[in-house]
Amino acid sequence: MQSQTSSIGEFDLIQRFFKAQSELMLANNPSSVKLGIGDDCALLKTEPTEEIAITSDMLVSGRHFFADANPERLGWKALAVNLSDLAAMGARPLGFTLSLALPEPNPAWLEAFSNGLFAIANTYACPLIGGDTTAGPLNICITAFGGIPKDKAILRSGASEGDDIWVSGTVGDARLALAALRHEIELSKENLASVEASMHQPTPRLDLGIALRGIANSALDVSDGLLGDLKHILKQSGKDAEIFLDQIPKSDTLRKQSAAIQNQYAASGGDDYELCFTAPSSKRDVIAKISADLNLPLTQIGSIKSMQHSAPAIHIIDNDGKELNSQQAGLLLKSFDHFA
Ligand code: ADP
Ligand code: MG
Repeated sequence: MQSQTSSIGEFDLIQRFFKAQSELMLANNPSSVKLGIGDDCALLKTEPTEEIAITSDMLVSGRHFFADANPERLGWKALAVNLSDLAAMGARPLGFTLSLALPEPNPAWLEAFSNGLFAIANTYACPLIGGDTTAGPLNICITAFGGIPKDKAILRSGASEGDDIWVSGTVGDARLALAALRHEIELSKENLASVEASMHQPTPRLDLGIALRGIANSALDVSDGLLGDLKHILKQSGKDAEIFLDQIPKSDTLRKQSAAIQNQYAASGGDDYELCFTAPSSKRDVIAKISADLNLPLTQIGSIKSMQHSAPAIHIIDNDGKELNSQQAGLLLKSFDHFA
């Protein structure tokens, strides 16, 4: 597409900050890319036994990140959130495109952004294969492509009555970091550093997603808050859930906060990028082995029930074994909504 010219120039910019690193990556790795950056389209090679998973996420300045956010972390996070979606379906990364609107072509910013972006691209062997660059308010849109053996994608709609509900890692730290950065909560320097990493540099659980093929009945990645996101599984599967509040896994740093903050942030904090999945109880041993192999805690937090009414419900059980009333539960279920 034609766009405004600038001092660096659109094509120099693409070459210097994106194409060179992409070509280096492709030269060093056998990959699924037949043709990368430079033509009208990129070409992906696919296995005849595979289906292609496609996901797109946009990060908007002032909405998803502060305008002066560290560009290296931004580069990491922009790809991380897309890889997290691939992970949630059980896909392996094939490549991604980057569409970038920039207020000005600032080389220092671009260099740092590109470093963060290629750090995660190299970590998860997911090459940059194309994109678009234009002048405009800072906006970063990434589309990622993944491969999944035919009919093996883990969908939101597959939860079965009696399934255990699991979550990876811990949840709530990114929300705690946000509260600290907004000065709503005081954290020591060390505690802030530990939770800030979850907020700025989430780890996409790709190995977990792949390991869960054929084991999990349903899955999604937790981006807008654990219980609110779980509701998507329940809606699409037509089921209820029972959740044990004290079993939701929290970091030591979050556990230092009041019980109310712990519960609120872990249940509906958002930006966690852990996987929430359901699996039959007969899979508990395999799941324990996956957890050990990946050195990643996997915690059972409840189970899938048949739907009692016309809409799915989450029954939240507190530490004393009592179900929370709808007002208490409603607070914990309130996940992030851009238009609310
Ligand atoms: P077209 O006008 O045909 O859409 P462009 O001139 O916009 O092509 O882009 C030239 C090449 O550079 C294409 O291969 C495109 O995918 C790639 N490209 C453009 N912007 C980016 C970017 N931000 N990151 C990676 N590749 C990019
Ligand atoms: Mg273009």
